[in-house]
Amino acid sequence: MSYVERVLEDVKQKNADQPLFIQAATEILTTLQPVIDAHPEYEEAAILERIVEPERIIQFRVPWVDDNGKVQVNRGYRVEFNSAIGPYKGGLRFNPTVTLGMLKFLGFEQILKNSLTTLPMGGGKGGSDFDPKGKSNNEIMHFCQSFMTELSRHIGPDTDVPAGDLGVGGREVAYMFGQYKRIRNEWTGTLTGKGLSFGGSLARTEATGYGLVYMVAEHLACTGDSFEGKTVVVHGSGNVAIYAVQKVEQLGGKVIAVSDTKGWVKDEEGISVAALEEIYNKKRSGNDKGVSLAMYPEIAGRGEFTEGDGRGVWQLPCDIALPCARENTLLLEDAEALVANGCKIVGEGANMPTTLDATKYLQENGVVFFPGKAANAGGVAVSGLEMSQNAEHLSWTFEEVDEKLNGIMKSIYHACDDAAKKYGVEGDFVSGANIAGFEKVADAMLAQGVC
Ligand code: NAP
Repeated sequence: MSYVERVLEDVKQKNADQPLFIQAATEILTTLQPVIDAHPEYEEAAILERIVEPERIIQFRVPWVDDNGKVQVNRGYRVEFNSAIGPYKGGLRFNPTVTLGMLKFLGFEQILKNSLTTLPMGGGKGGSDFDPKGKSNNEIMHFCQSFMTELSRHIGPDTDVPAGDLGVGGREVAYMFGQYKRIRNEWTGTLTGKGLSFGGSLARTEATGYGLVYMVAEHLACTGDSFEGKTVVVHGSGNVAIYAVQKVEQLGGKVIAVSDTKGWVKDEEGISVAALEEIYNKKRSGNDKGVSLAMYPEIAGRGEFTEGDGRGVWQLPCDIALPCARENTLLLEDAEALVANGCKIVGEGANMPTTLDATKYLQENGVVFFPGKAANAGGVAVSGLEMSQNAEHLSWTFEEVDEKLNGIMKSIYHACDDAAKKYGVEGDFVSGANIAGFEKVADAMLAQGVC
């Protein structure tokens, strides 16, 4: 058994109740064989055994009182996974499906993603099984304050800098920032994704979706092509999806479908970003019962809504598919439909939306596949730029941040491409992203000794 296989076997045994973490570890470790072969010193220093084990996991009780005066209790977590190249950095997810295994998968991916951005950020992730859907603003605020009351002991601008993720947008970050400031009596950039009037960065809201499209655009440019005239389908209609749709349309492409948890919309004229933003804001208004994409035809004045599984978007003929909802939402049968219908590029806006067998099928059938840890790194990259602006007490213009974001996405594209070429797997951006992200972290761990 090879070193990689032994470590993976150990991961499976020790984390048998964490299938998402095992899935992420399998995807990453199995692509690292060439770099492990080239660097025997990694095995001698047990780099793989160490990198799969979080440096620290914090789990805590989050008690809060709902609008009926009833005490509710949720579970909170922060996984401080790896700080070799910078303070822990990664989002907070509030969703009833959150488990430790889910946060370990996201945190593990985050280590390599943050490394790819070229900014000094380690990997972390956190969240709670709290469900913000259907809660009033008051309930959301009380939950966020209770969550931060405990988390505030463990984070700081040079220690751990959380951000948003599913269920945590600007409103939740603001409530948590207020509570952090109150408890610690300090005004620092400890959370990113903040409002513009209190240290947030312009273009952070757009960054993940724009960044995804910048990466695909760079690939198209390198092959003498562009988004002009391309047909695109998007899964999801949240933060990442909305700004991916906007940037595709700005670059001359047409997005014909988006989805949410209630169904999906097809709009042959091109999805209306204004309608998506209106629905997104209604969902986060604190009075969100019954709000869904079903409202799209009425708001946009066109398009048709199909109730049910949003995976209907994968059945449409398209040139490019962008999964931007959440993990394991592009399955093998979806990959087969995409290939059969002529799709040539898949770019992951979400984290691990494509299952391992679907990824394999797409790659074996000539689809250029950009994994989330590279393609959706624009969000954390601009979070890193927000940290720099906070540290310097400066704010850059939208254009400055957007230009830096575009530059970072281009450099990530070339880092993945170069790593794939260097290790004999040209065109395989999954391997390229894992290898390029891993090498930098592994070398930092090696230099810092056994710790
Ligand atoms: P978001 O604003 O909450 O949007 C999520 C979207 O996915 C919504 O349209 C939601 O529908 C849909 N969705 C949720 N669960 C689903 C399911 N089980 N099946 C199908 N659709 C589902 O979240 P986001 O910030 O866009 O994040 C989306 C993904 O990108 C996540 O994987 C996240 O980890 C990743 N990501 C986000 C960022 C960022 O900066 N936001 C950065 C890097 C990676 P409803 O509205 O009906 O719930």
